[in-house]
Amino acid sequence: MPFADILGHDRIIEVLRRSMRGGKTAHSYLFEGVPGCGRKKTALALIQALFCAVLPDDACGVCPSCRKVEGGNHPDIHLLAPLPDKRDISVDQLREMQRELSLRPYEAPRKACIIDPAERLNVSSANSLLKTLEEPPGNALIILLTENAGMLLSTVRSRCQLIRFAPLSPEHVQSLLERSGMAPETAALVAPMSGGSLQKALELDNESLALRREAVLSRVGQMNINRIATVFDAAEELSGNRDATLELLDMLLSFFRDAVHLGAGSGEIINSSVRPAIESIASKQSLPRNMELLERIYETRRAVQRNANPKLSLDHLFMNMADGAR
Ligand SMILES: [Zn+2]
Repeated sequence: MPFADILGHDRIIEVLRRSMRGGKTAHSYLFEGVPGCGRKKTALALIQALFCAVLPDDACGVCPSCRKVEGGNHPDIHLLAPLPDKRDISVDQLREMQRELSLRPYEAPRKACIIDPAERLNVSSANSLLKTLEEPPGNALIILLTENAGMLLSTVRSRCQLIRFAPLSPEHVQSLLERSGMAPETAALVAPMSGGSLQKALELDNESLALRREAVLSRVGQMNINRIATVFDAAEELSGNRDATLELLDMLLSFFRDAVHLGAGSGEIINSSVRPAIESIASKQSLPRNMELLERIYETRRAVQRNANPKLSLDHLFMNMADGAR
């Protein structure tokens, strides 16, 4: 895919393209980031751009080489991963890859190899990779993908150019999900819970997520400062562990963002399938008050992320929310 189709990693792509234009791409890269954030896509886009017969620093997408990379059947690209049922990438697999790289490329200017995930190289395979990383045969390009560079031997790390990929923003995850054909409503529901990983977003069970959303909306609707028990019950029921609380806060953020949109006169909301509940939040309180609550929810999320007690943080937040609903 052309670089323009990769979302959220503009700075990294600019660095890679600049090095291509200067003829200074590294022999070996180490792409670090959460699985599903776009490391492999970027690796393939880089290889496609290097192989492209038309453009100097991007993939044209239409030349025979670009089409083969796109179709996953370019003979000069090698993917190295653990065999099914095996934990590690074995020395035998590694030797086979080294033998392949030492052959002349079939069509491309050079061969390329992606090792994914590199933390599955065991000590002997990592050690036998060192020489290849230093002087890849035939100028081959080697790209290692890892979740955490700290898990690799320092001798492997030091021989690669490290590039750190940030998790994707919820907006980018949402737009990638929609491009892949997911309904906008579902995409908006799962994107904030994905941790910046498209893969995780696709694995989330959106039906049970939708049920949890209903439960949260109904609890929020019942909270009343004059019946203080309703506030603490809601915090008790919804807090759970840290991850569950963060998920809840992400939901609240999307509800109140929608309520602020409605209050400001925009009809466009993310949670359109529960519109009546959102309209009730928007009409119960003034726009400035809902904007203030949105800010409070952000603050609470930051605090819980920094290890604040989930239940106490929610007690505090819910008291504040219920106070406005008097
Ligand atoms: Zn091309």
